[in-house]
Amino acid sequence: MAQVQAGPEIERLIQLLSKLPGLGPRSARRAALALLKKREVLLEPLGLAMRDAAAAIKTCEVCGNLDTSSPCSLCNDPRRDAHVLCVVEDVADLWALERASVFRGKYHVLGGALSALDGITPEKLNMAPLIARVRDGVEEVILAMNATVEGQTTAHYLMDALAASTVKVTRLAHGVPVGGELDYLDEGTLSHAFKARRSL
Ligand code: ZN
Repeated sequence: MAQVQAGPEIERLIQLLSKLPGLGPRSARRAALALLKKREVLLEPLGLAMRDAAAAIKTCEVCGNLDTSSPCSLCNDPRRDAHVLCVVEDVADLWALERASVFRGKYHVLGGALSALDGITPEKLNMAPLIARVRDGVEEVILAMNATVEGQTTAHYLMDALAASTVKVTRLAHGVPVGGELDYLDEGTLSHAFKARRSL
C-alpha cells in the first residue's frame, strides 16, 4: 500500500482498516480520517468497544456462534427445539435468520464453506462436532448454505456425510438467488426460502 506520509500510527490504522471486508486502501484512508476527525465521539469509543469485545466475546463451544457466554444464549435457551439443527456458514447468516424469525431450533455455524481454491477442507471447518451433535438425538438437519458454488459444495458434502444416519436432511429452496448470500437477502425472501425447504 502506498504510504500517506503521516506517521506510523496512522499508517498502522489504515493498514488494519484496509483488511476489513468491503474496505480497500482508499476507503480505509477515508475511514481513518473520519475517525481522527471525530476523536471523542468515534475514535476513542470505538477503541474501547473493540477492546471490550475482544475481551468479552467468545466462540460457542457447542455451535460456533459468537456470544459473551459459551455455550451461547441460543444453545442455552430451553424454548428452542434441540431436535432441529440449522447449519449455516457464518455467524452473519445466523443473525440474518434470527432477524427473519423463521427458525426456533438450534444452530450450527461451520465457520466458512468448502473451497478447494482457498484450501478450505472439511477439517478446517466446524464439521466433526456437527456429526457428533446429529448423533445426539437430532431429528432434522436444515442445510442453510449460501447459493454459491462453495455453499452448494458444502451442502453436498454434508448430505453425503449424514447419509448413513437416520436424520432427515432438508435444505433451503426457492427464493435464494443463484450467487446469493443469506446475509444480503431481505427478511421476506429469506423467510420464504426457509419455509419452502424440502427433503433430499
Ligand atoms: Zn451456541
